[in-house]
Amino acid sequence: MDFQIAGRTALICAASKGLGRGCAMALAREGVNVVINGRTEETLEMTANDIREAAPSVSVTTVPGDITEQATREALVDAAQGKPDILVNNAGGPPPGDFRDWDRDTWVAAVDANMLSAIELIRLTVDGMAERGFGRVVNITSSAVRVPIPVLGLSNATRAGLTNFVFGLAPSLSSRGVTINNLLPGPFDTDRLRKSKEITKHLTGNPVAGRVGDPAELGATCAFLCSVQAGYMTGQNLLLDGGLYPGSF
Ligand code: NAP
Repeated sequence: MDFQIAGRTALICAASKGLGRGCAMALAREGVNVVINGRTEETLEMTANDIREAAPSVSVTTVPGDITEQATREALVDAAQGKPDILVNNAGGPPPGDFRDWDRDTWVAAVDANMLSAIELIRLTVDGMAERGFGRVVNITSSAVRVPIPVLGLSNATRAGLTNFVFGLAPSLSSRGVTINNLLPGPFDTDRLRKSKEITKHLTGNPVAGRVGDPAELGATCAFLCSVQAGYMTGQNLLLDGGLYPGSF
């Protein structure tokens, strides 16, 4: 299927590795020019080169920096001449732990990364998308929105906040060609899952699917949500967990 988004421009946050990278790669393969972000310049440039190799016809721009900083968010929008058509919000996940150990600064950092950064980028972009009559926002959240994970209280709380914010906003943009949806990953094969023993303890594998997800699968779903064909879908939470969630809705 031709998603009819070739020639569009996408901002993809936290895209040098893992799920963000999967989204950038999938969009580039659909002919979308991508602006990608990550804090470590070397990794970001390596990913940019991989995308250029996979999709030689698109432009790939890198904006290194921390997405929790306003300067980075503004640089991303500027890199798309202030007119991105697609925004994929993503950031590193908050650390696991016991809420008794989290002080105010820990909470503020998590709210900044997993809620406010996304909302601020939405603020910087959606009105322009609406004026131009086309826009797609995809937020990478977590299956923890549906099934909170005890050791990931910072994630459970901040992503729930973003989810409800988006649900309140999405209808006001629907008639102007702009959709906002959330992708809820279950366990995916990325560094975050591999590196954190405490997270892995709770998310080890996926006994239902018999495997964890491939970031390319999440990327392909993201590309579909950004397609012209997905224009009637907004405010939704799409769970990608290989059937792990044990409820019908
Ligand atoms: P990952 O493999 O560790 O990749 C994270 C990416 O984000 C890297 O490119 C990293 O590059 C970048 N990044 C991290 N913090 C950033 C920041 N403040 N500003 C800009 N870039 C930043 O992680 P992932 O598994 O893809 O996870 C992505 C998101 O999905 C996280 O929020 C995670 O909690 C959530 N999630 C993941 C899973 C899973 O199974 N993998 C499941 C549910 C939810 P730098 O470090 O160089 O900045």
